[in-house]
Parts: sequence; structure tokens; C-alpha cells
Amino acid sequence: RAKEQGRNQFCFYTQDMTAEARTKLDLESALSRAIERDELLLHYQPQVDGSSGTITGAEALLRWQRSGSGLVAPGQFIPLAERSSLILDIGAWVIDAACRQLRAWMDDGLPIVRVAVNVAARQFAAGDLDQVVARALQRHRIDPQWLEIEITEGMLIVEPGAAIAMLKRIKALGVKLSLDDFGTGYSSLAYLQQFPIDSLKIDQSFTRRIGEQPDGGALVDAVIALAHRLNLRVVAEGVETAQQSDYLRERGCDEMQGYHFGRPAPAETLQQSLAAQGEPPQHEGRALP
Ligand code: C2E
Ligand code: MG
Ligand code: MG
Ligand code: MG
Repeated sequence: RAKEQGRNQFCFYTQDMTAEARTKLDLESALSRAIERDELLLHYQPQVDGSSGTITGAEALLRWQRSGSGLVAPGQFIPLAERSSLILDIGAWVIDAACRQLRAWMDDGLPIVRVAVNVAARQFAAGDLDQVVARALQRHRIDPQWLEIEITEGMLIVEPGAAIAMLKRIKALGVKLSLDDFGTGYSSLAYLQQFPIDSLKIDQSFTRRIGEQPDGGALVDAVIALAHRLNLRVVAEGVETAQQSDYLRERGCDEMQGYHFGRPAPAETLQQSLAAQGEPPQHEGRALP
């Protein structure tokens, strides 16, 4: 009886695994066709100047409009893509799409801001990210200053020497570099000074603590001081309340990003906010390569 039960359990277990494996396979094959089916798109979330509130940049955040489903968030498919070389195609698509969007805005005579894109660990480690970036900039004739690449601490610690070399090559293109989710990784502070980055992004888990617990701003204060001491800009992520925004402004946080200022939304929404801001197109008259 026990043996029978054990076998039944075993059967149940394998059936379970099969269903799970099938779902994953479906997701993977659907994702592998997402580019050719034109199902990927970028949403843009504004980044505002800490003191004036002016929009100074935007982070491009990937979405998947899967046929038959709604909009799929990156957390639900990036980890899967990262398990194969699929992430390389998707990652290259993201960089190209951001540059294509910048070009479209410029061609339409619309105001533009710096666009930040996220890259995956595997994409960074592949060793040709600088070339992927350079090709996209060239293809769409974008001045490199309008592009920013967001990396995370985890990408830098595995092989710091190779990582520094890659960052230097990307920097040499004229592209900005920022360190995303700062404080959640395990990079040693000693390395921070060797990475040729322009800014630190305070992780939203730290921003959230402001006003939520006594001394909730302690870590934020420390990161702002550290960034400024290293001549880096500091960007707070996940700013959701006026209280957090006020606190960060008082502490001299250079830029802020979060639902308080705007959610990730289609390109047109960012463009409307920029138009409402009434700034003249900053790219007018600029010579482009
Ligand atoms: P991230 O780069 O740290 O992006 C910030 C995430 O926080 C975004 O989630 C954004 O929608 C969310 N967020 C922004 N403001 C607030 C706020 O005030 N409150 C809260 N609770 N959340 C806020 P999203 O778009 O789901 O992206 C999640 C992560 O997926 C990103 O974290 C990034 O690591 C990754 N990701 C997104 N796009 C790409 C991409 O094109 N390539 C790669 N490799 N990863 C991407
Ligand atoms: Mg990011
Ligand atoms: Mg982040
Ligand atoms: Mg993140």
C-alpha cells in the first residue's frame, strides 16, 4: 500500500512537472518569436531634476505585448530570457528601440531627454555590448550623450577587470553610465571608485523607508553623501510621496524617479509631459554625426 501510494505520488509529481515544464516551454517559444512578431515595446518613466522638478531624462522599461495576454512585465520574462542567448537579441532590440525613438522625436522636431536603458548580466558579460551600443547610435544617428546604460553591481563583481574595461569602452563612446539598484548588491565600496560611472541610483527599498520608520532616511543620506563625495550624480528611485520628494530635495538628491512624478507609460505620454514643460527642443542646431 505504501509502495503503491509512493508510486502514485511519483506519478502525480511527474505530471505536475510536465505541466509546469510545458508552460515554461510555451512561454519560451512565444518569447523567442516576440521580436519578429513585433510584440516588444518600451515604456518610459520620467526622471526629474531634484530641485526644479523639470524632466531631465527617462528610463526605458521593457514590456511584452504577448498575443492573447495583456502587457507582460519584465520580471515575468527577463529572467527566462537570461537563461539563454535570447537575452542578447532582446537586449540589442531594447538599445536599438530606444535610439530609434530618440531619432523619431528629433525628426518630428519634438523635445528630447536622455534615455536610460537597462542591460542584463549576460548581455554585459557577452563582451560586445559597446559594439551593440555603437551600432544602434550610428544606425539612428544619435549623439551618444542622449543615451545612458544602467548596470547593476552584480555585473561588476564577477570579473571586475573585464567589467572595468567594458565600462571604459562604453564611456569612450560618450554614453553615460549609471549603477542601478545601488545598495542591494554586494559590490565592495573599494571598487566603486574604479568604475567609470556617472551616477548612482538609490534603490527603491531605501527610498520607501523615508517617513516609514524612525531614521528611515539614514541610508539615503549616506548614499547621497557617498555619491557626492565621489563626484557622482545621485538618482532616487521609487519616489512615491511628496514627503519622500521633499526629504530628498532637502538632502540635495540630484534627480528623482517614481510614481509621484510619473509612471512608466508609452512614449507619447512622456512626449506630452515634455511638451507641457514648454522647453525648446534642446537638439535644435546640434550637429549630429
Ligand atoms: P529597474 O531598472 O530598477 O526599474 C525600476 C522598476 O521600478 C520598474 O519596474 C518601474 O516600473 C518600477 N517603479 C518605478 N517607480 C516606482 C515607484 O514609485 N514605486 C514602485 N513600487 N515601483 C516603481 P518594471 O518596469 O517592472 O521593471 C522591473 C525590472 O526589470 C527593472 O528594474 C529592470 O531590472 C528590469 N528591466 C526592465 N526593462 C529591462 C530591459 O529592457 N532590459 C533588462 N535587462 N532588464 C529590464
Ligand atoms: Mg533600471
Ligand atoms: Mg532600479
Ligand atoms: Mg531592479
